[in-house]
Amino acid sequence: MSISVIGANKRYGDFAALDDVSIDIPAGSLTSLLGPSGSGKSTLLRAIAGLDSLDSGTVVINGGNVTGLSPQKRDIGFVFQHYAAFKHLSVRDNVAFGLKIRKRPKPEIDKKVDELLEIVGLTGFQRRFPAQLSGGQRQRMALARALAVDPQVLLLDEPFGALDAKVREDLRKWLRRLHEDVNVTTVLVTHDQQEALDVSDRIAVLNKGRIEQVGAPDELYDRP
Ligand code: ADP
Ligand code: ADP
Repeated sequence: MSISVIGANKRYGDFAALDDVSIDIPAGSLTSLLGPSGSGKSTLLRAIAGLDSLDSGTVVINGGNVTGLSPQKRDIGFVFQHYAAFKHLSVRDNVAFGLKIRKRPKPEIDKKVDELLEIVGLTGFQRRFPAQLSGGQRQRMALARALAVDPQVLLLDEPFGALDAKVREDLRKWLRRLHEDVNVTTVLVTHDQQEALDVSDRIAVLNKGRIEQVGAPDELYDRP
């Protein structure tokens, strides 16, 4: 599913968090929104998700105008930096959550959860609870949960931000492979240039509520 944002504006008081932002995100790509803190990355991601309204502008997903639609109607999976896992639910039940809400049959849920836990490398962890996982494992569980309902679009807001450098690097490599397997249109917010270079097909560079450049990593930065 492609995503287009056209002429997005969002102000907080006098401050323009998004200043006439337009971007096309190709179907199946992994696009990073890269920029310093406060540049408007999360605001743009939340507008795509439908978690925040825009003052003006249009969001189009798969050719359909979704501006004004609730997040639930946009068929999107989210993962945020501080992922709120359900502490009282096992890994299995966290991943199964969206499928249970949708009243999928138990055999289908069991199969899907097994598949996803294998994809994210958490086979054998079904019965653990979030408190018994490392930070990286919790984020992988979060991704499995977001993917469980086959979203058309996956939105990741600094998903590895709270983790230490080594774990982040492992998760980047893993996210890259995951994306090649699952191939869902993915938008990743990060302030970390190396992270954007390592994982993305395309990078949009934001500064002060504007998109300054968009392109493939090799077009934007000279690689060593
Ligand atoms: P980024 O994700 O790039 O760090 P954000 O999109 O979160 O940036 O925020 C862009 C700017 O908008 C920041 O200056 C932030 O302080 C401001 N902002 C974001 N959300 C709100 C809000 N709910 N109320 C007031 N200002 C906000
Ligand atoms: P960040 O710190 O990356 O900006 P948060 O984790 O604080 O993001 O979440 C931002 C907001 O999005 C919160 O108000 C939270 O309630 C809401 N939110 C988080 N996950 C979901 C979700 N899956 N569906 C709807 N809203 C969500």
